[in-house]
Amino acid sequence: GPALSVEDLNKTYGSSGWFVNRSTTLAARDVSFDIPAGRTLGIVGESGSGKSTVARCIMRLIDPTEGSVRVAGTEIARLSRADLRPHRKHIQIVFQDPFRSLNPRWTVGRSLVEGPLNLGQDKASAMARARELMALVGLPEDAVDRYPHQFSGGQRQRIAIARAIAMEPDVLVADEAVSALDVSVQAQVLDLLDELQQKLGIAILFITHDLRVAAQICDEVIVMQKGRVVEHGKAGAVLADP
Ligand code: ADP
Ligand code: ADP
Repeated sequence: GPALSVEDLNKTYGSSGWFVNRSTTLAARDVSFDIPAGRTLGIVGESGSGKSTVARCIMRLIDPTEGSVRVAGTEIARLSRADLRPHRKHIQIVFQDPFRSLNPRWTVGRSLVEGPLNLGQDKASAMARARELMALVGLPEDAVDRYPHQFSGGQRQRIAIARAIAMEPDVLVADEAVSALDVSVQAQVLDLLDELQQKLGIAILFITHDLRVAAQICDEVIVMQKGRVVEHGKAGAVLADP
């Protein structure tokens, strides 16, 4: 089956709790899509259309109100926090701000081994893998001994990608992951994602407000507007429409 499968996902903010909240927001309505291994699906839409809500539900950073999220075949939409833990490695996220993944006070190496160590990997092999990952994302292996602020924005985003890849995920969610970068650096990071996908066969969910960026990397695209999916198709067809 697909690496990621989302079915009739709904999210209403302000509806949890026993009280009636008068200011609820239907941020995602009946969102459905699949991403096979090795493919990239984009979610595009204006600010406030519900893109991040979908990403946060899929990551279980927030709880979906209704619907199904299957990651590598496992239904995770309603798993408890404890039952979710072993499944978290299968889906990793890269944010617009790399400091959401990287602790500025930690060496790059320490940030990269944190997840694998939590999964029970031994320190020496996790650190050896961290060095390999630096090479894989186009940085010198001794980058593991330096701190995030010693790198450029584009390099820091490469490190955040390496940290996600360290978990050997089936699915990588990129939430506006190149939106803060200059156009030329954007192109380099998109090329890197493409190359990693070819090598590792991961499925990528690529969230962006930028149609030009979506056209560069996505195979398929869904367009969101006010929480709804208003278009879904091949990137070339959807993004060619004015
Ligand atoms: P996008 O990622 O496309 O900018 P969001 O998913 O962030 O859109 O937001 C979708 C809608 O949900 C917006 O109306 C936004 O104001 C609202 N929203 C987002 N997060 C919350 C939250 N934590 N509580 C209440 N409303 C929220
Ligand atoms: P992101 O960068 O992931 O889109 P934001 O920086 O927009 O997230 O939002 C930061 C935090 O504020 C998130 O936890 C989000 O849930 C919350 N948030 C966003 N929009 C709203 C809103 N309209 N009302 C309440 N909380 C919100």
